[in-house]
Amino acid sequence: MLYACPASDPSISHSQQKQDPGTPDQVLTDGFDFPVGDPDGKGSYISQLDQKKYQGWKVSLGLGDQFRFGLHTGEDWNGSGGGNTDLGQPVYAIGKGLVLEAEDMGAPIGQVALIRHQYLQGDSVQTVFSAYAHLKDLFVQKGDTVDRRQSIGSIGNGGGDFFQAHLHLEIRKGNMKAYPLLYWPSLDGKDLPWIVEHYHPPGAFISAHRRID
Ligand SMILES: [Zn+2]
Repeated sequence: MLYACPASDPSISHSQQKQDPGTPDQVLTDGFDFPVGDPDGKGSYISQLDQKKYQGWKVSLGLGDQFRFGLHTGEDWNGSGGGNTDLGQPVYAIGKGLVLEAEDMGAPIGQVALIRHQYLQGDSVQTVFSAYAHLKDLFVQKGDTVDRRQSIGSIGNGGGDFFQAHLHLEIRKGNMKAYPLLYWPSLDGKDLPWIVEHYHPPGAFISAHRRID
């Protein structure tokens, strides 16, 4: 779902302005995998809620979808069992990268990680930023380097009863470098074309960049 209301507070947005440390020897990622389930975003999981086995994962809300908090900036990933059946399931880094932010923002956003990934496209280095919100557990810290498929946390509900557990996943384009961690474009007057210009649709981006030579 969201990073909703906090982004509407300019003081919070300002205080959360991220600083890209820009390590010069950043290792490029050799591809991207899905953040839940198996590397293909499929596979079964045993729910911690009811101990049942569920098959598969699904996106319940996509990039640019209009919902109660405005325009959605990523994808909400849920276990196929729905509800809180996916609570506590692992969340993996989509690619090798550098953790720019890892902190508990409080309910309903919960714990959030923001990771910078760089990869080659032809001869040029491209940058994207992946954001993972509502995490129940968070296993990385700012400044950590993570590998593709490294477990960085677990699926949560943001620490409250605001909604049921899911992973809010964003893949921000390189032109989002200067924007705050909790930026919520539709609360800042931005429209759908702006969102499309600044965010990748996560599943489609990952599918198109599985292995990079
Ligand atoms: Zn979401």
